[in-house]
Amino acid sequence: MSATNEITNSGELVDTKYAGEAGEGASEYRRILDRAEERQECPFCPEFLQQGNEVLHKVSGWSVISNKWPYENAETHLLFIPDRHITDIVDVVLRDWFAIRKATAWAREQYGALMDGGALVVRYGLRSGVTVRHLHFQLITARVDPETGEVPEGKHVVFPIG
Ligand SMILES: [Zn+2]
Repeated sequence: MSATNEITNSGELVDTKYAGEAGEGASEYRRILDRAEERQECPFCPEFLQQGNEVLHKVSGWSVISNKWPYENAETHLLFIPDRHITDIVDVVLRDWFAIRKATAWAREQYGALMDGGALVVRYGLRSGVTVRHLHFQLITARVDPETGEVPEGKHVVFPIG
């Protein structure tokens, strides 16, 4: 967490419910989340985000990174993360929506698969099942069969809520 981003209660940073098993043999993803919780460091606040991720693009206080742990069957899986530690969808104000629009346009130029379609999704709050509470949008597109140009049967990207 940064000086400008105040986090007071445990559980406001991450929820490891869907992040796999803890302890020995835990995935790198789970270990990063456990460390964040233990140290009360938000993995998506700028100082920590930059430690473990390459920021691909910056636009108006938002960073674009590639998801290190893309969903199964995803061709492209990007995250749009605001510098501000916000956790609620209503904290996304007009200038943020412009930034998200710009980031989406940039991503479509960089990743051709996104030109053919994708999904921009965001979860907020405990009921959503979000893992990192710091609000983030996910821009995802599915992998297609190169011969047909279509997503093969049963190879959809599943985005869980709850
Ligand atoms: Zn944060």
